[in-house]
Amino acid sequence: MTEDGYNPYKMAQEQFDRIAEKLDLEESLRELLREPIREYHFNLPVKMDEGGTKVFKAFRVQHNDALGPCKGGIRFHPEETIDTVRALAMWMTWKTAVADLPLGGGKGGVICDPRELSDREQERICREYIKAINKNIGPLQDVPAPDVMTTAQHMLWMMDEYECIKGGQYPGVITGKPEGKGGSKGRTEATGYGVIYVLRELLDEIDRDFEEITASIQGFGNVAQHAAELFIEYGGTLVSVSCWDQEDKKAYCYYREDGVCIDELRSITDRYGSIDKKKAKERGYEQFPGDDWLKHEVDLLIPAALENAINEDNVDDIPSCVELIVSGANGPITPEADEILEDRDMIVVPDFLANSGGVTCSYFEQVQNNQNYYWPKDEVLEKLDNSMTKAFHEVWDMAQEKDVRMRDAAYMISINKVAEACKARGWI
Ligand code: NAD
Repeated sequence: MTEDGYNPYKMAQEQFDRIAEKLDLEESLRELLREPIREYHFNLPVKMDEGGTKVFKAFRVQHNDALGPCKGGIRFHPEETIDTVRALAMWMTWKTAVADLPLGGGKGGVICDPRELSDREQERICREYIKAINKNIGPLQDVPAPDVMTTAQHMLWMMDEYECIKGGQYPGVITGKPEGKGGSKGRTEATGYGVIYVLRELLDEIDRDFEEITASIQGFGNVAQHAAELFIEYGGTLVSVSCWDQEDKKAYCYYREDGVCIDELRSITDRYGSIDKKKAKERGYEQFPGDDWLKHEVDLLIPAALENAINEDNVDDIPSCVELIVSGANGPITPEADEILEDRDMIVVPDFLANSGGVTCSYFEQVQNNQNYYWPKDEVLEKLDNSMTKAFHEVWDMAQEKDVRMRDAAYMISINKVAEACKARGWI
């Protein structure tokens, strides 16, 4: 729980309870699905460059594996909590189900700030994490991937440690690896591109064109940059992006009325997705407080940073011209804010549908690892597009048919699928 009382796990459970009630799910299934099946807590002793050992707290949570091995990223974040990891693991279960993947839901986290650690220290954290969890993960058990502030390099160190311990080649133990080292082409772009494939289908359904859409994105990391890139390529105008500033310890957004230039911003952004504020100003971007990302007069908001971005306190700051929200981040909208957005007739594409491109491509990576045969990028992206398009239309059609919002439709599809798998296995 954060200082302001926000608890993502409580929020994930509330979202689940609401739909479980609508679906009239039996009590034992509710009990099973509203909590993780297993979780692991450990302390990682890590040798620091300056000498001495620092102990980092870390977690791995496996929410449900009825549909297949657990799947979900590992975050490095100074404010990571077990409840955040539990919520994210639960959302992964719904995400893999709605994307129709033969996978369950898991998530991991280490309480650390990679921005304050050397590469060697980060490598040691990765290796200690795998030493602690290696018995409980694996291609057929639980397969981690990158998330906030973890990259392909972190995944490679983790895979290497796993292979050292197990004494063999196990590329399928982890996804999001670098290309040429077991990684899939297109994995870096997959989550952000997936957000925009889903947006494209939505615009088509509501008879709108990219050319008439202006947008503001929260975040400028992996998901945000690739969503921004494809949004602009499809003809949209992105007027603002925001990011965390490590020097000032607060967020800013960078605004340009006639549209931001992605290549220009990327060239002044560090590997953690922080834009150099002095250089942004020199290039003519207006700088606003980070919270202003949702106050701009645009048609579309894409939260692509962290959870709790749109909540009860700031939802009324969203101007009336905003019609659409497509979530790139996990858990960016609280249930209270969701209710208010629904009353305003806003179309919200839920996170676990819109950002399922990452896990879908991770699944493709596993398939390629198993085949030891790697697909060209065009083929990966075409498969990803087909899969996201199919998932979107299933949810859209269900929402129309049942006259419910898209989040509820997505939850109904995924909870039903997981519940059926639990029953079919004889668990319930
Ligand atoms: P990242 O670490 O690459 O980028 C995070 C970005 O958020 C950075 O630009 C950072 O500066 C910014 N940020 C942090 N705090 C902020 C704040 N208060 N205001 C504005 N910006 C802020 O992370 P990512 O991989 O792009 O993940 C972003 C979100 O998408 C997370 O919720 C993550 O769980 C989710 N997600 C990621 C993937 C993936 O494949 N990477 C897949 C599915 C979902």
